[in-house]
Amino acid sequence: MMPELETPVHTAPADLITSIDQLRTVLPTITDAMAATMTAIAQRYTFRLPRFYAEKILLNDVNDPLWALALPNAGELSDTGEERWDAFQLADRAVNHPRWIQKYRYEALLRVTDFCSGLCRYCYLKNRDVTPGRISHQEIDDMFDQAETSPKRSELREIILSGGDPLAVPPAVLEHVALRMQRLNRTVARRITVTIHTREPVWYPQRIIGNTALHQALKKLSPSSYILHVVHPREVTTELHQAMLALTELADSRRPLMMTQHPLFRGINDDASIITDMYDRMDSGPVVFKPYYLIHPFPDGTLPQHRLTLPESQKILRDLASAPGTRVPLLTIPTPMGKCVIGPYEQLVDRGGYYLLHTKDGVPVQYAISPHYDPAETRVHIPIMPEVHPSAAVSKAG
Ligand code: SF4
Repeated sequence: MMPELETPVHTAPADLITSIDQLRTVLPTITDAMAATMTAIAQRYTFRLPRFYAEKILLNDVNDPLWALALPNAGELSDTGEERWDAFQLADRAVNHPRWIQKYRYEALLRVTDFCSGLCRYCYLKNRDVTPGRISHQEIDDMFDQAETSPKRSELREIILSGGDPLAVPPAVLEHVALRMQRLNRTVARRITVTIHTREPVWYPQRIIGNTALHQALKKLSPSSYILHVVHPREVTTELHQAMLALTELADSRRPLMMTQHPLFRGINDDASIITDMYDRMDSGPVVFKPYYLIHPFPDGTLPQHRLTLPESQKILRDLASAPGTRVPLLTIPTPMGKCVIGPYEQLVDRGGYYLLHTKDGVPVQYAISPHYDPAETRVHIPIMPEVHPSAAVSKAG
């Protein structure tokens, strides 16, 4: 279960729903039997949902497919919790720290918090050995002190702030990261950029709109891009557009690139017309955005009823591919060894129960073909094969 953390700043406690009883005041069609199941699941996996999302995005209808993404449900019990997503990293990464995740020589991801204002029921991290709590100034200093003296720092192109949600931490944390990024960049010839992964503008856009302290911190941090986690057309609200505008207008120059990414889920967004509708709604706002990743369901976390086969995900990409390049996402297959990107017409060959994929760095990955979630499935089904690709400098850390 994710640890309960402090309520983030700029959040009225009433803005977050944390019990099924509270939820039923917004969604009264939840029956007693459903409430009992939800309560039992919530005792294993923490439930938290911004009131905005419950009132504005969810329908008071038991058949609303978004319920399964946002409300506790029995499908979550099938997750064995064996995923160790952050365990596979470069052997010679620039920094050794549990919050510094580096699968590629050019990119590091910082887990700045394990808090999100809402908790996705499919979260691939909720059951894992993620570093708990919020990053401290001391931890930021530890990481950046190492980075500033690492010979590997000049290979870095990007530092991603992720979590949990980086926009849910106190602004002072972001200001301290900004300070250390400026220092780090003074030691390299080529700028290392910052990207922020966030779902806050969907969950709880009011935390961003008009939040002066957050704005000041982000102005100093000056991210080059935001990757917004938006899953469904109904999640594209007027408030989401306002939050995007607020984030974009912070910069006087080098305004950040706005991108979206989302997992694919059977019965929710596994149709190109739904995804196109979502992109159209994003495009109707005042900020230009670029669809970035279409994410094939994670091996763990994804509820069994939502899992797709790889050919099914590829078919969705094919149906989206005949469009301007600015409107076509990349289909990525997440594996612990890194992201594998496949094209719309790439031939998938069954090599005896698995497809042979490659990460962006060329690390070969045997990807199990099994179409449905198998509780016996373990990471052994996605082994690293360094003997196939000797340059695959990947280690199992942590
Ligand atoms: S926004 Fe991301 S990190 Fe937060 S609960 Fe959802 S999937 Fe997990």
